[in-house]
Amino acid sequence: MTPLSPESTVAEWLDHPAGGPILRRMLAENGQSAGTLRAVRRFRMSRLVALSGGRLSAEEVERLAAEANATAPGDAVDVPGSADVPGSADVPGAATTAPPPRPEGRERCTPGRFTGSTVVITGAGSGIGRATASRVAREGGRVVAADLDRDRLDALAAELDAQAWHPGHPGPGHEIVPVRADITDADGIAAIVQAADGRVDALANIAGITDGMVPLHEVDDELWHRVFEVNLHGMFRLTRAVLPLMRAAGRGSIVNVSSEAALRGSTAGAAYTASKHAVVGLTRSAAFMYGPDGIRVNSVAPGGVATGIEGAMNSALGRERIEPTLAALPDIAEPEHVAASIAFLLSEDSVNINGALLPSDGGWSVQ
Ligand code: NAD
Repeated sequence: MTPLSPESTVAEWLDHPAGGPILRRMLAENGQSAGTLRAVRRFRMSRLVALSGGRLSAEEVERLAAEANATAPGDAVDVPGSADVPGSADVPGAATTAPPPRPEGRERCTPGRFTGSTVVITGAGSGIGRATASRVAREGGRVVAADLDRDRLDALAAELDAQAWHPGHPGPGHEIVPVRADITDADGIAAIVQAADGRVDALANIAGITDGMVPLHEVDDELWHRVFEVNLHGMFRLTRAVLPLMRAAGRGSIVNVSSEAALRGSTAGAAYTASKHAVVGLTRSAAFMYGPDGIRVNSVAPGGVATGIEGAMNSALGRERIEPTLAALPDIAEPEHVAASIAFLLSEDSVNINGALLPSDGGWSVQ
């Protein structure tokens, strides 16, 4: 048997005669099946550790690898009824051997694409927002990077400093203006606009939260309001504050991040799904109203993306109904893949696109 290690892929673990049963047992102990790992089967186990938010430690993976490598062939006992999703053989259209690790997200930066532009980006401390802020900054933009978490923004600025001579970067240094701001709060909106200093060429409304996959009859008022405050009302208030600057300038590009949950009812709970459908409505209304002013407003709908976003399933009914949809999810994307779609719509490259809803989901929406 090929020895397993943290650098083996999830598919290699699941296909392994000893590692597969061990991994499926661990999942079963946490109320999960191997099906939940299907879309990340090409990730290395070490990447899962980074994504797990502390739920799976590097030490635990080392311990499981040692256990698997010490198990003699034939001695492994699988979890009864757990052969639902092995690493490769049962995935329709997949090779009978484990697929290769997913390639690192490769970016093709356009040097200078945002030079001279001020771009406001919310949720810039993590995931898709961080990747978008990084890309726009490396393409020459002055980025007003807003997030609840100032430390994460400072870490982004430090990372970009360290990469000042990256091949995709137009030159040394970058212009990141970190703003600790809560977009659900009037002071937060004011702080972001103030940091923009009278000029906003583009706005990416990316900050968002999930809802625990809770179906309508289980949603309490607090959950409903919190999800709408962040995912819709924050975006609405910040856009309302920025539009006068764009209208006065006679130009601007706005990208609102929605979700696969804006396209269907089967990927999240009631509050998240409704809020993301509303993001599309807000996008289309603004695109229609301000198109003649030279302002374009579009939406990107990501599928599954490897970020820090909360993925909890807080409802038994929600889990039962949604898990089969997630089992058909294409490979999870890296944040940089979605940032490329957002940067395109923020930039002049999309000059003829207004009011569009762009799925950036590896083709999930055509299933
Ligand atoms: P993430 O959790 O990695 O990052 C979100 C960032 O937003 C965090 O840094 C957080 O601090 C910030 N934020 C949250 N509430 C805020 C507030 N009130 N004010 C300011 N900042 C706030 O999440 P992500 O996966 O990068 O998600 C970004 C967007 O993409 C969200 O709108 C999300 O709904 C959407 N999306 C994500 C996925 C996915 O699979 N990750 C799929 C579809 C859509």
